[in-house]
Amino acid sequence: MGYGTDVARFRARLRAMVRGDGGTGRSVRGMRWEALVAGIAMAAVVGALLLVLPDGRAEEPAGKNASAQMAKKVETSISRKAESGGKAVNLTLDDGPDPRWTPKFLALLKANGVKATFCMVGPNAQRNPELVKRVVADGHRLCDHSMSHDVSMDRKPVAYQEKEILEAKRLIEDASGGAPVRYYRAPGGAFTPESRKIAAEAGMRPLGWNVDPKDFERPGVDKIVSNVKEQLAKGPTVLLHDGGGSREQSLAALERLIPWFKEQGYAFSFPEA
Ligand SMILES: [Zn+2]
Repeated sequence: MGYGTDVARFRARLRAMVRGDGGTGRSVRGMRWEALVAGIAMAAVVGALLLVLPDGRAEEPAGKNASAQMAKKVETSISRKAESGGKAVNLTLDDGPDPRWTPKFLALLKANGVKATFCMVGPNAQRNPELVKRVVADGHRLCDHSMSHDVSMDRKPVAYQEKEILEAKRLIEDASGGAPVRYYRAPGGAFTPESRKIAAEAGMRPLGWNVDPKDFERPGVDKIVSNVKEQLAKGPTVLLHDGGGSREQSLAALERLIPWFKEQGYAFSFPEA
């Protein structure tokens, strides 16, 4: 027998081993071979996973879970657009919560299946924690509207602005039982670059508006309604008030506006957070 015959025999044996009978026809040796192959394959898979997983995890898209949301960097620019996109309106209700008016707004919104964003003054939230909790339970969003509603805050020291913003956030959070406060709206829109940064770093998007019907000045229900309809071309975020005095006109105006929004094909959204 020459060299060629040995090679041919070796090849035959190798093929038999791969087939699983170990070239002997006995299954025991074949099983050992299969176990070895399986072991190597397993090691290769585990090794590949160890190499791949850290990067794979890093590439996961920004999740919808709460922790990913918290980690998301909040922009310092003033939000006015609707989160939903499309034909939408963002109702925002400022200066509450107010024990006389806020429950009426909540009932109206609930009866119509409409969500809104409540921009609360810190001490009002502290005095009415049950209302803050109802706002959250009904699916509305929370917004920080400072401690003392100082509309000249843009001319005050940064340390004062920071205290006004962060103290109110803490009071609103405490009153809500730990719900997120997603926005900061400067009283009278008196933002500064510093206050926008302070808010964003605390997880709150600065929140502006497009539509200001001046309901605060009580110009009459008809006037509030027509102001909203006329200004809506400017953008989706509507400023109304559920606190800071009698809100009878604001409530009556909203009662008329909600069916009108629906007839016109508007969806109800939240501002971009
Ligand atoms: Zn206000």
